[in-house]
Amino acid sequence: MIRILFAILFAMPMRVKAQPFDLSAYPVYEGDDLGLTYTSNRSTFRIWAPTAEAAELVLYDRPLGGEDLRRIPLERGRSGTWQISLQGDQKGLYYAFRVRIRSTWSQEVPDPYVKLVGTNGRRGVIGDIRETDPPGWSLDRSPAFGGVSPSPVDAVIYELHVRDASIHPSSGIRGKGKFLGLTETGTRNTSGRSTGLDHLKEFGVTHVHLLPSYDFSSVDESKPEKPQYNWGYDPLNYNAPEGSYSTDPSDGLTRVREFKRLVKAFHDNGLRVVMDVVYNHTMFTETSWFEQLVPGYFYRKRADGSFSDASACGNETASERPMMRRFMLASLKHWVQEYHVDGFRFDLMGIHDIETMNTISKELHAIKPDILLYGEGWTAGSSPLPDSLRALKRNAASLDRIAVFSDDIRDGIKGSVFVHDEKGFASGRVGTEQSIRFGITASTAHPQVDFSKVNYSKAPYAASPEQVISYSECHDNHILRDKLEISARTATPEQRMDMQRLANTIVLTAQGIPFLHAGSEFLRTKKGVENSFNAGDSINAIDWDLKTRNEDTYAFIRALVSMRKRHPAFRMRTAADIASHLKFREDSTAGVIVFEIDGDAVGDEWKEILVAFNGTPASKVIMLPRSGSWRTHIHDNRISSGRIKTPSLTLKPFSAAVLYKAR
Ligand code: CA
Repeated sequence: MIRILFAILFAMPMRVKAQPFDLSAYPVYEGDDLGLTYTSNRSTFRIWAPTAEAAELVLYDRPLGGEDLRRIPLERGRSGTWQISLQGDQKGLYYAFRVRIRSTWSQEVPDPYVKLVGTNGRRGVIGDIRETDPPGWSLDRSPAFGGVSPSPVDAVIYELHVRDASIHPSSGIRGKGKFLGLTETGTRNTSGRSTGLDHLKEFGVTHVHLLPSYDFSSVDESKPEKPQYNWGYDPLNYNAPEGSYSTDPSDGLTRVREFKRLVKAFHDNGLRVVMDVVYNHTMFTETSWFEQLVPGYFYRKRADGSFSDASACGNETASERPMMRRFMLASLKHWVQEYHVDGFRFDLMGIHDIETMNTISKELHAIKPDILLYGEGWTAGSSPLPDSLRALKRNAASLDRIAVFSDDIRDGIKGSVFVHDEKGFASGRVGTEQSIRFGITASTAHPQVDFSKVNYSKAPYAASPEQVISYSECHDNHILRDKLEISARTATPEQRMDMQRLANTIVLTAQGIPFLHAGSEFLRTKKGVENSFNAGDSINAIDWDLKTRNEDTYAFIRALVSMRKRHPAFRMRTAADIASHLKFREDSTAGVIVFEIDGDAVGDEWKEILVAFNGTPASKVIMLPRSGSWRTHIHDNRISSGRIKTPSLTLKPFSAAVLYKAR
């Protein structure tokens, strides 16, 4: 009924200009052919523009500039769509659309569903995406992780920016700054240590999380020689890869082919690929593809009609509206089905509504049961959609197989990201022990956590360890090494190196899903720059020679990754197991945390496990329970294997120990 009324309404000329359209009356198009459907005989275009009075397809012979070749009116289709089929093979042409609403023509824009784009993503490209499949693509399979029945907690995530990985001279990589750079094997730093893809494999992580690799706006793809840099949190085309990471941004196919080659190279080397996706806002607001084609539909607004801005980037999308929800779902499915992507990290996920996120999870898990989904359970500003409906950290238990980042453990470990000189547990701040306990138990209910003393959350928010990402740093804010230099400035470089090892030991022995930031395993620095989103290569590039210079730290953190993967005790599946089988010692002094895991109960080859952290600048002695048969695996921030003969253990300042009793 509503749809019939709607069709009548919009079939009539609009006379009252100021009257806003009723968003709830917009028809929902349920087909899956929005955008271009290409064959060599015919190209069919369909856009959703229910408020338009007319729509045009505009064809060009180039990606930017030039005169149009043809302007072709679209025909009104069902459910608010407009369509046209062009006979014959139209391959190689570029296209855009414009619509007329209330007598005014929009700008020319690609449609939001566009999958092949030209330089700077301003026009779509007519072409056959099948031609982008690299050799062996039909046989490409995501590598196994975590054994027969993998859980998200079996993942070890490594967050990496495509350009940072290869752009430094020390990378030894030829395809510098490109997707293809990450497909190269046998690459070495100045002293012969592996870099790039070989390093990722050697380090032992399971999932490489790439910073935005969809088509973003801030790097001018037409000027490859100009020094440019951006993280890419400024989305333009959600369904196409970024052009500046390809060897030819103009033709539409190259960027697709090269990103697929990256995915395949990772899969062939035992690594899974996670994409960082930013559906919460668009680079442009009034001039975005969404807003040009369907003004007012895809964004939330304030009561006064202005764009609300929970992203702090000028707008926020409205995931709760059916066609935005469908857009996100179709886009994510495209990356999984066309590109074989293995997971997604949702930027400012707290902007999206819970129902949309759970629908996404259900449908993506149906396609790929071991897909990994996680996001930031917060926003960067207030939103008109009520908190109770949004995918905020506090609502984590309502999310279906989607994890949230734990800023509680992050800042518990190193101090607040907002208070630069504040220390955390790993750098000597006593009073942070409950935040660390909260992190170790993956923000689940545990009888030995005093929630009133946790830094941020005053109650457990996770129903399962699969719902929490444990980390101490990411691309945002100071990288760990720099944070330690700023906050623990009176400490010696050796002490700060110990703090870095302790911080990583906490993350990698915590329950939940561990997440590491690229290069931190060998003390990467960003030279004190806090927000390096456009700071250029001199700040962001990974200096691979640090891997040699800090080889002991690297060897240690690599061993931690390996230990975690071998020992299910650090990867418990349920909150009930954690509450029953992980027990904190209550006799520890301030700045010291000791916990024991019943390895027997969780199927670990280590019968009993004792983990101890000393976050203080003094040596500490801990008494060992039922001494006699404990062996060390880690002691004083080093791999150490030996039998302990005394009933006590001395921990050097800022250090971790992992002991076990063999079966
Ligand atoms: Ca771009």
